[in-house]
Amino acid sequence: MRSITVLGAGESGIGAALLAKAKGINVWVSDYGKIEEKYKNELLEHKIPFEEKGHNFDIIDNTELIVKSPGIPEKSNVVQHFRLRNKRIISEIEFAFEFYSGKIAAITGSNGKTTTTSLTYEILRKSNLKVGLGGNIGYSFSRLLTNDLEYDWVVLELSSFQLEDLYDFKADISVILNITPDHLDRYDYDFNKYAKAKWKLAEHTKKDGYLLLNNDDPTLKHFAIENPVDANIVWLSANNLTALVSKETNQKFEINLLGIHNIYNASVGKSIAEIIGLKPPEIASGLLSFKSIEHRLETVSTFNEVRYVNDSKATNVESAEVALKSFEPNIIWIAGGTDKGNDYTILEKLVFEKVVAIICLCVDDEKLRSAFANSECQFYTTQSVDDALEKATAFAKPGDTVLLSPACASFDLFDNYIHRGNEFKNAVHKLINEIN
Ligand code: ADP
Repeated sequence: MRSITVLGAGESGIGAALLAKAKGINVWVSDYGKIEEKYKNELLEHKIPFEEKGHNFDIIDNTELIVKSPGIPEKSNVVQHFRLRNKRIISEIEFAFEFYSGKIAAITGSNGKTTTTSLTYEILRKSNLKVGLGGNIGYSFSRLLTNDLEYDWVVLELSSFQLEDLYDFKADISVILNITPDHLDRYDYDFNKYAKAKWKLAEHTKKDGYLLLNNDDPTLKHFAIENPVDANIVWLSANNLTALVSKETNQKFEINLLGIHNIYNASVGKSIAEIIGLKPPEIASGLLSFKSIEHRLETVSTFNEVRYVNDSKATNVESAEVALKSFEPNIIWIAGGTDKGNDYTILEKLVFEKVVAIICLCVDDEKLRSAFANSECQFYTTQSVDDALEKATAFAKPGDTVLLSPACASFDLFDNYIHRGNEFKNAVHKLINEIN
């Protein structure tokens, strides 16, 4: 009987363990930290043995193969130990692939993965195809395959971590949306290493498959020249007038999303659907029914002609850039948080042109203030969301936008970006109720 160790017991690890069990493979789950209660209950329910708060190297060594969760860094002791012993280590995505016979559309990139993956799924769902959605969003790929559904297509969101330790995995359609600096801590602060990790998806595209790339991204252009692949490359751009025009009928598809970046995201979904052979009415209907996802340029409310927008998921400079591009002046910009080595230079012009006040919602405001010290913006610093909102509302005039788009991670004041976005939305509703 085959035997495997699953390293890490989060969504990916538990999915892999459940899939292994369903396929009659002996499985041992090992987590260095404490396993979340809901996952522990699933393991108990399925009689899958596990350990937590440490790894037993002997037990792991007695299994044939390690399935590694994406959250476990290459530098961890356990990975280093078994690499030295030449133990076979594969990713959860690679493991799931062995048990899947349908087609795959896989989407990676620094920004826009969740939006584009969900939008693509929404379009494909409108057809007669049986479609699954998973990976870095919702269910892990492995878990999707535990429910005996025979998918025609699975749309996968893949992070750069999930692209590590792939071997036989091949996507039929791959997308690399963009490559800008993010998560560099996992890549020795070397942008080239991070970019290479993303490019892996290009290398894991079928020979006769399609690779969709961003024509406005210099890194992707460079990689496509330096590292040619066999797949058919399709270059897409939001700046192309035909981005949302049907190849078949020339009709222009409408979308319900803000910002030029979302025209690009939608053009990716549309192109995937066209490659698969969906009909224009299905594509039109999917594109139109897709609304922005929570915490991504989400309009919370418009009050006294001031629009309040929650873009808490903007945890890097590039995503804040597209947010600032999406609104007319004047913007009251709520920003800041845990700095990931941000370079604010690309935002200077936009801030000078559009932003009248910067509210620093963070512990350390120094970098943000000094980056825009030469602008005419008013500054205010606070660690309270209610206070930030009150001040922003005081600054705002009819027609203005109050935009939470932090360009930073949230961990200085919040559990995560969802917590930050929810607090912001609550504060907006509270403030409006108070004023009413
Ligand atoms: P990801 O899953 O890659 O983090 P999301 O769809 O969750 O991407 O969006 C994250 C942030 O990036 C949001 O603030 C969103 O507005 C912004 N964003 C979405 N699409 C793009 C894009 N194509 N380019 C740059 N930023 C984008």
